[in-house]
Amino acid sequence: MSVRVVARIRPLLEKELDKDIIVHAASTEDGKPTTLVRIPSPKNGAEEFTFAFNSVYDQQTSQEELFTQEVAPHLKALFQGLDVTLFAYGVTGTGKTHTMRGGMKLAERGVIPRLLSSVFRRSKKIAKDTNGGTQVSVALSYYEIYNDKVFDLLESPEKRTPAGLPLREANGKTHVVGLSERPCEDLKDFEKLYIESNLNRVTASTKLNAHSSRSHAILRVKVTQTTEEGVLESTASAIDLAGSEDNRRTDNGKERLVESAAINKSLFVLSQCIDAISRGDKRIPFRESKMTRILSLGQNNGITVMILNLAPLRSYHLDTLSSLNVSSRAKRI
Ligand code: ADP
Ligand code: MG
Repeated sequence: MSVRVVARIRPLLEKELDKDIIVHAASTEDGKPTTLVRIPSPKNGAEEFTFAFNSVYDQQTSQEELFTQEVAPHLKALFQGLDVTLFAYGVTGTGKTHTMRGGMKLAERGVIPRLLSSVFRRSKKIAKDTNGGTQVSVALSYYEIYNDKVFDLLESPEKRTPAGLPLREANGKTHVVGLSERPCEDLKDFEKLYIESNLNRVTASTKLNAHSSRSHAILRVKVTQTTEEGVLESTASAIDLAGSEDNRRTDNGKERLVESAAINKSLFVLSQCIDAISRGDKRIPFRESKMTRILSLGQNNGITVMILNLAPLRSYHLDTLSSLNVSSRAKRI
């Protein structure tokens, strides 16, 4: 079981009025890899906090570099039967969706399309190298967790029930009852499905008068390898988390309070799980939230990568600090 916690600082956007950059990537020594994030104290500008990560990616980091460094190395394990879980964590507007989904242009594609592309490439290679002795199939599920309820993103929002999909335990695993799963043959298949289901997400959140930044979106890629000897199944999950900002500060309607409580609790449990895994604890509190329960986080030797997205600007100061505190609490220096 392993976990990496890395930070990615996004660049300043052209339209941004605030140009006051206060978050910096740093190394412990010249020539050493970048592993530190430095940020001033909000009370005393001269004082500085430093947070340590497994790796820190600065404003210049390309989508390709992030994928090559943090995701590609785990593909081998995925095809050996281990589960891989990738999270984008952070305040709304810091680059979670950019990191996970990315833009339409090839160079701007995020972790998810790159992951699928690599999975298909590897699947074809395995089939070829084994002369068809190993058959590999890929199936997708895509769902969101909003107010602690699970909704299928592969289904039209019309089919949603207020309670969402129920969970059931079987063979020591948690299943989402009725969650769809679609076979996917190639990148074209995937892209069509992904674009359609992201539209479902937008439609659904508009109907609820909510915003997609208030739900967790979870894409699950199931890889099944079949040989004469048996079946090997593993999953890669990529999660674009709800915004980690404290929603209560800006908006205190009743509906928003319910949302905030659900978001805060699930992000809190997630960070507890990440901490427990990184300490090597036997007991991981993954049952304490719906998302970590469905993901079986930290069970069965899986690999987890948490990417903390950061905006470098002063206008995000307090939210940035609290996200740093949550995701690297054990490692604040
Ligand atoms: P979030 O999903 O965390 O709310 P987004 O991914 O929507 O944030 O990013 C906010 C804005 O910043 C978007 O316009 C996005 O294109 C841009 N952005 C984020 N990260 C980067 C990056 N690494 N390079 C260029 N633009 C980025
Ligand atoms: Mg987003």
